[in-house]
Amino acid sequence: MTHASASTQPPVDPSAPLVWTNIILFSLTFLVAVTVVPWYGLTHGFPLSAWIVFGVFLAANELSITAGYHRLWAHRTYEAHWSVRLLFLVFGTMALQNSAWVWCSGHRRHHLNVDDEQLDPYSARRGFWFSHIGWMVREYPSGVENFTNIPDLRRDRMLAFQHRHYVLLALATNLGLPLLIGALTGHLWATFLLAGVLRLVLSHHFTFFINSLAHMWGSRPYSEENTARDNPVLAVLTFGEGYHNFHHNFAHDYRNGVRWWQWDPTKWLIAGLQFVGLTRKLKRTPVFQIQRALLAMQFARAENLLARAASTAAPTRIQELRQHIASEYESFLTAVAEWAKIKEQWLTEKKRVVVEHWEQTTFQLRLQELEQRLRLQRRRLRMLQAQLA
Ligand SMILES: [Zn+2]
Ligand SMILES: [Zn+2]
Repeated sequence: MTHASASTQPPVDPSAPLVWTNIILFSLTFLVAVTVVPWYGLTHGFPLSAWIVFGVFLAANELSITAGYHRLWAHRTYEAHWSVRLLFLVFGTMALQNSAWVWCSGHRRHHLNVDDEQLDPYSARRGFWFSHIGWMVREYPSGVENFTNIPDLRRDRMLAFQHRHYVLLALATNLGLPLLIGALTGHLWATFLLAGVLRLVLSHHFTFFINSLAHMWGSRPYSEENTARDNPVLAVLTFGEGYHNFHHNFAHDYRNGVRWWQWDPTKWLIAGLQFVGLTRKLKRTPVFQIQRALLAMQFARAENLLARAASTAAPTRIQELRQHIASEYESFLTAVAEWAKIKEQWLTEKKRVVVEHWEQTTFQLRLQELEQRLRLQRRRLRMLQAQLA
């Protein structure tokens, strides 16, 4: 776990003014969720209808933040039909994480300055509490609103409307919707407690985990240049956002769990909507680029293991392994250079003429061949690492 080290801006600066609305909101909803909700459940019981509304609202809130606020608006990883955007906006407002403008401008700053203790609004280097919730309960210089990095979103009339009427819309969705459904089903309080309060507290903290735990707990298969981690447990709680190491390295990809088997319902939703024509232009990172990042990390790890083994293993054996890794690395660099060359050729061809179908497939085949080469190399390196461990 990381700690705020030689920071000029301490995680808890007692002179930073408190944000009372947030403090009251977070503590009151949390207190009700851990006292009144279980008490009501034990004394009155919750009907199935209240549980269903709770589940639907929780999923709708989380997906609107992940697929809407995050992957659509903050990162523009795809385009969506207005009806989808409207739903994201309604349930994103209900998630009570501020307007899309505020959320996205903060998030873009987080990516640009990740881990910076002065510029990242929720830098994990300032500790768990700060990155989880602390950054919202005091007015820190790192959290000052600044919309210069969202010119695209400021042109969006739907988002402007949400920003302008945020408080009213947030109240209507958080109090109005659960109370209305509660009145219609005849279980006013039960619905309000589950689908209103408990839903809000869970959806808050599940999302907050991405800024805190997903920068502290998990693996870093793509890069160790920032604190972001891949963590399947968090992926389950956050509808796929737990693959945060991948996300910080390939933020323009509409997927966070890039492998087909990785739990990422948000990517399935976006891809599913494309199937019925409601989303389009889904951005994907080329397979080769992903493989290249994975391999570069494997080489770094192998080097570390080798350095560690140097004190115990026989010098001839170390020499042998070192040569082995060096030759693997050379063939890796060759593949990377070849890939760049093919890409360039393909692009010039594309510019010159409309690339014929057969030409396209030749290019694709050559690229696939290179991808396969890296895949095999990763397997060889894994075996090598196993020998060294
Ligand atoms: Zn992050
Ligand atoms: Zn992001």
